[in-house]
Amino acid sequence: MSFTELGLADEIVRAVSEQGYTTPTPIQTQAIPAVLRGGDLLAGAQTGTGKTAGFTLPILQRLAKAGPMRRPKSVRALILTPTRELAAQVEESVRIYGKYLRLRSAVIFGGVGINPQIAVLANGLDILVATPGRLLDHMQQGTIDLTQVEILVLDEADRMLDMGFIRDIRKVLAALPPKRQNLLFSATFSDEIKALADGLLNNPEMIEV
Ligand code: AMP
Repeated sequence: MSFTELGLADEIVRAVSEQGYTTPTPIQTQAIPAVLRGGDLLAGAQTGTGKTAGFTLPILQRLAKAGPMRRPKSVRALILTPTRELAAQVEESVRIYGKYLRLRSAVIFGGVGINPQIAVLANGLDILVATPGRLLDHMQQGTIDLTQVEILVLDEADRMLDMGFIRDIRKVLAALPPKRQNLLFSATFSDEIKALADGLLNNPEMIEV
């Protein structure tokens, strides 16, 4: 199975090839077609499995296909991660895999000044990678508009719950439009994760690697 056979566009396959990836990993083989179909996804995957490309590649494709339609302060795909380090890493992947597409991405997390982030959000973004706490700060300040979100990803959802982000996540979810695609990635499935998934996902495809 090749990235092209999974349904990815030439611009994306070229960027991936330049990274030296020749074959999709098992999570990518399952997740990429599932995300391209447009439905919700529940994925059990550890780090190191290639899960980041498993969701970023098809998201890039879906957004590129729909064409740019950014509004000020708005976001089309929102990826939440538990830590700054992971957020930065995921956004770097988005940039690398999306280098031949004209999509705008950014990362926001706490512990750094908020003003540069406000400036980045002001023009609108195709893809935003964020940690929950700082995202809430922006929501409360009115510097972000989440009403246009088409795709939501909770990456390492179990770690987000372990770190006490559930209340923040619920506040973010409440600000999103009801019609959207939801992807939940988690290494473990506690009752708390299952409850979150139950409330969030509509008839999800399920994959486990
Ligand atoms: P992740 O599980 O998303 O953190 O990815 C783990 C590592 O695998 C990262 O360093 C990726 O660059 C790399 N990787 C992801 N997909 C592939 C692939 N299809 N072939 C080779 N390496 C990959």
